[in-house]
Amino acid sequence: MAAENMDKLVALCKRRGFIYQSSDIYGGLQGVYDFGPLGVELKNNIKKSWWESMVYDNDDIEGLDSSILTNPLVLKYSGHEDTFSDPMVDCTSCNMRFRVDQVPESCKKEDLTEPRQFNLMFKTNVGPIDDGESFAYLRPETAQQIFTNFKNVVDSTSKTLPFGIAQIGKAFRNEITPRNFIFRVREFEQMELEYFVKPGKDDLAHDTWVQKRLSWWVQQGVPMESIELYDVPKEELAHYSKKTVDIMYKFPHGVEELEGIANRTDFDLGSHSKKQKDLNIKADVLENKNSNSKLAIQDDNGNWLVPFVIEPSAGVERGFLAILNEAYHIEQLDDDKTRVVLRLAPHLSPVKVAIIPLKKNNNEIVELAMDVKNDLQKLGLGRIIFENTGNIGKSYRKHDEIGTPICITIDFESLEDKSVTIRDRDSMEQSRMSIQEISSFVIKKLKS
Ligand code: ATP
Repeated sequence: MAAENMDKLVALCKRRGFIYQSSDIYGGLQGVYDFGPLGVELKNNIKKSWWESMVYDNDDIEGLDSSILTNPLVLKYSGHEDTFSDPMVDCTSCNMRFRVDQVPESCKKEDLTEPRQFNLMFKTNVGPIDDGESFAYLRPETAQQIFTNFKNVVDSTSKTLPFGIAQIGKAFRNEITPRNFIFRVREFEQMELEYFVKPGKDDLAHDTWVQKRLSWWVQQGVPMESIELYDVPKEELAHYSKKTVDIMYKFPHGVEELEGIANRTDFDLGSHSKKQKDLNIKADVLENKNSNSKLAIQDDNGNWLVPFVIEPSAGVERGFLAILNEAYHIEQLDDDKTRVVLRLAPHLSPVKVAIIPLKKNNNEIVELAMDVKNDLQKLGLGRIIFENTGNIGKSYRKHDEIGTPICITIDFESLEDKSVTIRDRDSMEQSRMSIQEISSFVIKKLKS
């Protein structure tokens, strides 16, 4: 099941503290959102899952965290200064500006101006003087500094082909029409891998990464039934791409891109390299007059080659939205009531366990509950919450709605026999368990 519409998700996100409009008290800032107490946990868990599957599970992949402020030369040679723009039109009737492929049906063709190019990069002044000369860009993708650090990583890790560099971080795009909640925003995070291979091995590596990325999304609770693959036609390919496969997801507002997996050939390394003429670069690159580094690697025979690169690039916000949408269920209960339950995979749940004392004013119960919480928290499994509302029913409803897999209730019996009630989010079944058994039960449940 999924949410009926985006409004349901937006309401849940605000009510429970997942996502707020940024600068809300001053009327907001369009296309920018803040992640609240639960949102930051879910977002961190998504990023952690991606990082583990990329960097920890693969000995041939290294991590990187590069700067957001970017030297303009990086984005000149990457092609972004010249080509990172969308054609846009103004509607003279409603006075709004739209991307050509996103004009709403309510605007008439005769009211639209001729399309004009609009560069999507944010520029900012660097240093004390705003003279228009000393500026930097806020990076529009995290990928470029992976390429500019290629030699640093090779030299410091002695990597040989094939190998990858993974990075998670903020990206900024001055989108003309940010919309659909956190689907299209101006400030977002990307999870990007650049996987370098010998030219000729690129097609196979591309296919392999498409499959690996699909299985990762399935593990995050986004099933294949909600996914379509889009083999981007030649005329729509980005200037650097030989082939791109987009993973499209059935968002509440329609089927759109969740992640793109591109074969960027040797375009980027070739573009940022010195001595381009010596390197047999296959892509059509700008002549580089500024780089001081040869971005190439030696093969087994000692010959220099510029690797091709496969890039799976996913947006954290779009992932968040897809995962939340898939997890969202409204269930009919026996007594004519309904409950909202987020069936999140346990490794993604913002709160792992809620510990609920039956009586909030009973010191003995509260202290025992606190002990159970502290012991569980020490296991490093994520956030364990001590929920001292004194209202069990209300606490269960809240934790269903935010996707907490396990609730543990401490009652009078617990004081006698050191046992607790464990309640399962999905089945709502309750069982008794001794306090000693809790840790191993919780560890097992969270790994499932
Ligand atoms: P679109 O066609 O939807 O604008 P794109 O093809 O420009 O997306 P890429 O440049 O391939 O996107 O970026 C890789 C990923 O970054 C996308 O698959 C998406 O998940 C994410 N992303 C890109 N732009 C945005 C945005 N404005 N807001 C949120 N996520 C974004």
